[in-house]
Amino acid sequence: QISQSQPVIRQLDEAAINRIAAGEVVERPASAVKELVENAIDAGARRIDVSYADGGKTLIRVTDDGCGIAAADLPLALARHATSKIDGTDLLNIHSFGFRGEALPSLGAVGRLTIASRVAGDTAAEITVSGGQMGAVKPAALNSGTIVTLRDLFYATPARLKFMRSDRAEAQAIADVVKRLAMAEPFIGFTLRDVSDGGEGRVIFRADPASGALFDALQGRLARILGRDFTDNALPIQAEREGLMLTGYAALPTYSRGNALAQYLFVNGRPVRDKMLTGALRAAYRDFLSRDRHPVAALFIECEPKLVDVNVHPAKSEVRFRDPGLARGLIVSGLKHALAEAGHRSSSTVAH
Ligand code: ADP
Ligand code: MG
Repeated sequence: QISQSQPVIRQLDEAAINRIAAGEVVERPASAVKELVENAIDAGARRIDVSYADGGKTLIRVTDDGCGIAAADLPLALARHATSKIDGTDLLNIHSFGFRGEALPSLGAVGRLTIASRVAGDTAAEITVSGGQMGAVKPAALNSGTIVTLRDLFYATPARLKFMRSDRAEAQAIADVVKRLAMAEPFIGFTLRDVSDGGEGRVIFRADPASGALFDALQGRLARILGRDFTDNALPIQAEREGLMLTGYAALPTYSRGNALAQYLFVNGRPVRDKMLTGALRAAYRDFLSRDRHPVAALFIECEPKLVDVNVHPAKSEVRFRDPGLARGLIVSGLKHALAEAGHRSSSTVAH
């Protein structure tokens, strides 16, 4: 009965498993940058420098001054499902960007990855993994913090290599990722450089770490990234409902746009793209904007981790609220209130 073509079931080796998983975690250079910058934020960095060459295809380097990785832990940092951020007992209570322990092994499976790191007061060490082959831990020279260098992304997965777009398009996506993360972290300094031509490179974006009160810091950072035009024309938003906090800036209806691209939404510091939230934003402006105009806003929802599930997708740009109606209501009412007040103020000025 059974032909000679009977399939054989095999256990895949670690390198193959990592290459497959990498397909979900790392779609393009910008997704690698996102994972590495999130790791730096999780490490408590105050300064994060990102450099890339050739749209990130040949080189991505992220340098941070965070907590570092102990030399003995370097191989573990590259192991699949190894993380320092959760212990697996409480998946409803995640306070960090990372928790899957998938990014570094995935990047090491599809590119050439070197991690050099130093915990304050300890000696520095580095490890390299290329196409899934891990080298030995070696001594290194650096100040405390971590330097992650990723070269030749997707060299080990030629099919994926073909799907990369022009250097220019990939560089644009990298800048977008860095700026979005920088919006939510005004107390962290960011630098983004294109080092394609060697040397110090060309600064694409720089934002110094803010000090002082959150709203001032946020306003300064948003002015830096979205332009002073935006902050000059935006209303501060602050609202709260049953454990959900909304802060941010929303532009006046007169500062609207012909597309919905300038809408930046964050949940617990994560940039998200979420239909429910953008729908709420649109609903809030319904009485103030014609149908073909779109509001401009940067809004931050903060809540206890257990009120929102971030475990929806490895790239984690989707979220699911335990009570979506609550989140929607918070945005609609918080914004409507601010817009109505601003309307009153301007009409009473006119009346004078
Ligand atoms: P995750 O972020 O989900 O834990 P990663 O594969 O991104 O998984 O990282 C694995 C581990 O390596 C992290 O849990 C952390 O302990 C360590 N790590 C990675 N990047 C850094 C960094 N920049 N600074 C300090 N530790 C880091
Ligand atoms: Mg991570």
